[in-house]
Amino acid sequence: MDQSSIDALRAQVVPQRLHVIDGQQVPASDGGLMDILSPIDGQVLTRMAKGTAADMNAAIASARAAFEDGRWAGQPPAARKKVLHKWADLIEANALELAVLGVRDNGTEIGMAIKAEPGSAAGTIRYYAEALDKLYGEIAATPSDVLGLIQKEPVGVVGAIIPWNFPLMIGAWKLGPALAMGNSVVLKPSETASLSLMRMAELALDAGLPPGVLNAVTGEGAVVGEAMGLSMDVDVLVFTGSGGTGRRLLEYSARSNLKRVYLELGGKSPNIVFADAPNLDEAAKVAAAGIFRNAGQVCVAGSRLLVEAPIHDDFVAKVVKAAEAMRVGDPLSLETAIGAVNSETQLKQNLGFVETARAEGGQVVTGGDRILQETGGYFMAPTVVTEVKPDATLAQKEVFGPVLGVTAFESDDDAVRIANSTVYGLAGAVWTSNLSRAHRMVKNVRTGVMHVNTYGGADGTVPLGGVGQSGNGHDKSLHAIEKYINLKTAWIKL
Ligand code: NAD
Repeated sequence: MDQSSIDALRAQVVPQRLHVIDGQQVPASDGGLMDILSPIDGQVLTRMAKGTAADMNAAIASARAAFEDGRWAGQPPAARKKVLHKWADLIEANALELAVLGVRDNGTEIGMAIKAEPGSAAGTIRYYAEALDKLYGEIAATPSDVLGLIQKEPVGVVGAIIPWNFPLMIGAWKLGPALAMGNSVVLKPSETASLSLMRMAELALDAGLPPGVLNAVTGEGAVVGEAMGLSMDVDVLVFTGSGGTGRRLLEYSARSNLKRVYLELGGKSPNIVFADAPNLDEAAKVAAAGIFRNAGQVCVAGSRLLVEAPIHDDFVAKVVKAAEAMRVGDPLSLETAIGAVNSETQLKQNLGFVETARAEGGQVVTGGDRILQETGGYFMAPTVVTEVKPDATLAQKEVFGPVLGVTAFESDDDAVRIANSTVYGLAGAVWTSNLSRAHRMVKNVRTGVMHVNTYGGADGTVPLGGVGQSGNGHDKSLHAIEKYINLKTAWIKL
């Protein structure tokens, strides 16, 4: 990857994008289009089909027909595996194009995007391609005159609703296992970051996925997302996004066909640093990266820094130094460490959180402002706020932006109490050289993922999912497959 190849791709005009239904590019039923803005300069990048409920229902009907006639589910596992590997090959072959396209509408810095987006998506699809013919059913411990078989069947039609922060990575977390198990899928990308995911869906068709098995409909969540949620013909809904939308999806399910709903929601993850951490300089750099990369728009971001009181001031100084060394700016420059905030709305929300933090007694020790306004883009300086009380808004609510709240703690119990004092439980970390303390913290901090002496980077072999209001269900690893299968019992009298 070099800067000139990135610049050549950036210079390309982005064509209008339509839905993908039944293997065809299809306009919205009423011809509607919506502007796609680039967070890099605030300008219109292209236009995209603004879907209607009718479009979503057509996509679901197509996916249902594809599932019922067995054009995918009925193929031998080896054949499905081959198509999925071919899809991963195409994603890899087009990795830079996909990454640049994605950065142009979501704003992630390219260095991170290339790894976290096409790189991770291709790896995820391969993982489930490899898994699909290694999963066995079970034989129950029955009396000898009976055979009890427990079989795994695809659920049918899966609806997948994706957020804007990592569309390819999160998209693949749903599409990989859903398609590997033989389901048909209807995809609903985020209205502010659909481009790369729509392209990735097209590549699946190029790889030989039969038409109708993967349909993708763009448009507003409140229109096409709602139509998906209320459909009587979607069997499972998988979602990553905000808690507010998650609540609506549960309501839609209750009001329609009681479809299974799996939610991956936000977090307010504690990064807990003890004075006996093996390397405080390293811990500070990782803490800064753990909140500021992708402008803090990372579900597992370590947005609460809990520091043992005796090292608080020194450690904060190190984090501030690391934050100030991270270059904010053009996400398509390889020099950039922190790209753009995804939208103006999100930027205003981030700045609002900083104001509230100040009003509640927090001290902004670096950042706090919009920067590079002359570019027209949505950029914010990495922001560190100290003296954040455990019950302050900044300690309780997810910002989903480059804002770190710092709180001092006095003891192990104090750290656990503060760490567990939010409604969330997605991720966290502890930095210590004491093995017993590390294990105690892993055990006692209420969260889905706990890091020790690192932050982030857990690969596809381990599950990602939250507890509490961070959601239910898990992406990644073989555990994700459970969402996309039904168990069927065969009770056979011998
Ligand atoms: P969002 O909830 O606003 O949107 C997510 C998706 O839901 C989008 O595709 C949107 O169009 C759709 N949507 C919106 N309203 C809808 C409705 N009424 N019915 C159906 N669909 C609707 O979230 P966002 O702002 O795009 O994403 C940021 C959030 O996602 C943050 O809270 C973040 O923590 C969370 N997130 C969680 C994880 C995880 O794995 N737990 C990963 C990434 C992001």
